Amino acid sequence: MSDFTSFRRRSRSQVQPLQGLAAMADAAAAMRDAVFGARDLPNEVAGRLRAAQVSSTLRMTPFMMAANIISIVVVLLVFWDTGYDDFLAIWGVGFALFIAVAMRQWWASYGMPPPARVSRRAVRRVVMSCAIPALFWGMAPVMLFDSASAAGQLLISSLVLGTLSAGAFGLATVAGAAFLYTGIIAAAGLVGLAMGGHAIFLTIGILLMIYLLITWFAIGWFAHLFNAATLHAMEIESQKELVGLLLHDFQENASDWLWEIDAEGRVTMISPRLLDLTGLPEDQVIGQSFVHVLGKQADEASLSRTCEVFGARKAFASVEVPVSVNGRNYWWSLTGKPIFDSKGDFAGYRGVGSNITAEKLAHQQMVHVAHHDALTDLPNRILFQERLERARREREDYALLYIDLDHFKTVNDTLGHAAGDAILVEVAQRLIALKPDDALICRLGGDEFALVWPRAQDEFSVEALARAIVGQLSQPFQHRGQPVHLGASIGAVLAPRDGADPADLLRRADLALYAAKSDGRGRARFFAQKLEDDMVARRALEEDLRAAVATKGLSLAFQPIVDLKTGEISGAEALLRWTHPVRGNVPPSLFVPIAEETGLIVEIGEWVLRRACEEAKDWPAHMTVAVNVSAAQMAGHRLPLAIAETLFDTGLDGKRLEIEITESMLADTESAERLIAHLRAFGIRLSLDDFGTGYSSLAYLRKFPFDKIKIDQSFVREAVRRPDCAAIVGAVASLARELGMSTVAEGIETTAELAIVRAAGCPRGQGYHFGRPMPPEQFRDLVVPGQRAA
Ligand code: C2E
Ligand code: MG
Ligand code: MG
Repeated sequence: MSDFTSFRRRSRSQVQPLQGLAAMADAAAAMRDAVFGARDLPNEVAGRLRAAQVSSTLRMTPFMMAANIISIVVVLLVFWDTGYDDFLAIWGVGFALFIAVAMRQWWASYGMPPPARVSRRAVRRVVMSCAIPALFWGMAPVMLFDSASAAGQLLISSLVLGTLSAGAFGLATVAGAAFLYTGIIAAAGLVGLAMGGHAIFLTIGILLMIYLLITWFAIGWFAHLFNAATLHAMEIESQKELVGLLLHDFQENASDWLWEIDAEGRVTMISPRLLDLTGLPEDQVIGQSFVHVLGKQADEASLSRTCEVFGARKAFASVEVPVSVNGRNYWWSLTGKPIFDSKGDFAGYRGVGSNITAEKLAHQQMVHVAHHDALTDLPNRILFQERLERARREREDYALLYIDLDHFKTVNDTLGHAAGDAILVEVAQRLIALKPDDALICRLGGDEFALVWPRAQDEFSVEALARAIVGQLSQPFQHRGQPVHLGASIGAVLAPRDGADPADLLRRADLALYAAKSDGRGRARFFAQKLEDDMVARRALEEDLRAAVATKGLSLAFQPIVDLKTGEISGAEALLRWTHPVRGNVPPSLFVPIAEETGLIVEIGEWVLRRACEEAKDWPAHMTVAVNVSAAQMAGHRLPLAIAETLFDTGLDGKRLEIEITESMLADTESAERLIAHLRAFGIRLSLDDFGTGYSSLAYLRKFPFDKIKIDQSFVREAVRRPDCAAIVGAVASLARELGMSTVAEGIETTAELAIVRAAGCPRGQGYHFGRPMPPEQFRDLVVPGQRAA
């Protein structure tokens, strides 16, 4: 290829108008190439080029010979009987013999395919054989001109010029032959003119030389153009061969197929590969409308898209068409180019089709995986978000239910993840069975699900659905034949009533869910503006609490714990107090949960511990101080170290410190056991706070070695009116005694309550009856002199 290209690049520069020396040099180089052959052509190409040159000359043989015969006859007729009969006889016979040999050779090659390539030597032979007729014609002026009449001289001059120009044109493709031929004739002409001896012949001789030069230049240029054109044709030919080869290979091996349709859209050509693939018989495709062939199978929408594409009469690429043939579904990708006839009229389309079914299915699978949860195969958060976005765009009315399983974490922790997974799958099935037809159920992650119900009727029907879901999910699940109880809480919003923006709606559904959980789980709640207002207030409180922690704005109060037998103060519980600059006293029940949620409780708790120990250090040595800790403190690893440091720094005896934890914290068994082990190591006591408000209380009592149980004040409060509560207080006190634990009755406000608690056998008590939580100095005043409280 590069050989053709380099030659053509040169020839292109030579076609520029010839200007000055540069153009002359170009032309000379072109002629040199034409005469001697392009030097940088490889042998194969040069051989083929020479073959083209020779066969083009050979094709002229009959015409040249006919012209020669006519000219010979004319010369013989004109010059016979002018005294040169012997010469003419020999000349005529010799010439005739040469013509006979040349014609014989031509005849032998006639009808045969032209030679593919020709050697340099063969070209040289052609050149030499062209010299023979030139010599014959050259004899005419040399032998006859001098003594000829004026008319004879005119004939000879015409002969010289005629053979000169005919030879130049006829032999120009083999430039060497043309140069030699015309050179010999011109030389003979000059000799004849010189022998004539007339002054005008000198001028004619000079003109002859000029004509010869121009003729040579024209021969060289023509030969060069011929060579360039031949090489170009050869290049196209070889490109065609290559394209043919590639197409053949494509048809044979590639998975794609070729198609062609006429201006009416009828199939004129289709690769057998497609017929094999689809099993369609050829007569059902060839001559049929292409769109009709597709139309039998494609769906309406893609069919009209395809018609549109063809109707545009423009090139198109990778148009994907779903097709179903003989009960099998395919995806084809079509690429096509319009074809136009020589008049520029539209003549149809030609293109490539490929079977992209596998890629399409793989893509669909990928899209499915990206949009669905692997465990339950429910739509995932991405699809959920997309659905909400669409609803927003199309201004749909819909209900959104945020569903969260209750106690799922406990199930997962106790029964293992495999059991958790199996339960989630069943949850998904129950939700699918319950959902309205047009609703979408998604798994957002973990134990969170969501339901989008378009065109939900009203709040009542949504509430009914939510109740049905809670009811279904409260039904026990089965694990290895054992029932597992879960439950669900639901937060619901209605769009557009509760907002139009998906992010707002989600946040509000989440708030409603949070409220449902705070209300005691296993229920559904709709969003209400109050929830958001509460949340905003809570955020503000959170900020204020951070500021209070940073500026040491918190304080401690101490509430006496009394020995019910002696009436002596045996110790105190340290209780957090926060006096807000605007709100005044904020109760711990409000800010402690916030501190727990934000993690601030860790820092606050350590401060409480240190302050409580510092104070207790100044109390009488038999008095204990009780400090409340939170789940977040217990789960972290810092608490044991913080306790050790505090005891070391304050010098308080570990036996005088009591840590209060609540039942709910014991669900995290591992952390509880770790903490208890550390506390034991320091001789620190452990109290179970608010006993009776949690669940599985008795099981915990057996499992964890508490020193004290604090009976929740709700029992004490009720005990006066309800004998069963009094009985519970008594039962707990005696059970604790049996287990070697002490009991504290919380919230004793009246003497009646004190009497019942005493009668129940509780050794200790705490409550407003003995003293409210008080500032540290007040408590110190109370205990340091050793006061009686009862
Ligand atoms: P708790 O540990 O059960 O504390 C006893 C609560 O009962 C205190 O409420 C106390 O003021 C109140 N109380 C005591 N006697 C009576 C009574 O006779 N009648 C009534 N109605 N209430 C009585 P307080 O101080 O509001 O604390 C509430 C809860 O906040 C505490 O319950 C405890 O769980 C938590 N808390 C307080 N301080 C801390 C702390 O430093 N750290 C942690 N983690 N929690 C704390
Ligand atoms: Mg407590
Ligand atoms: Mg308590």
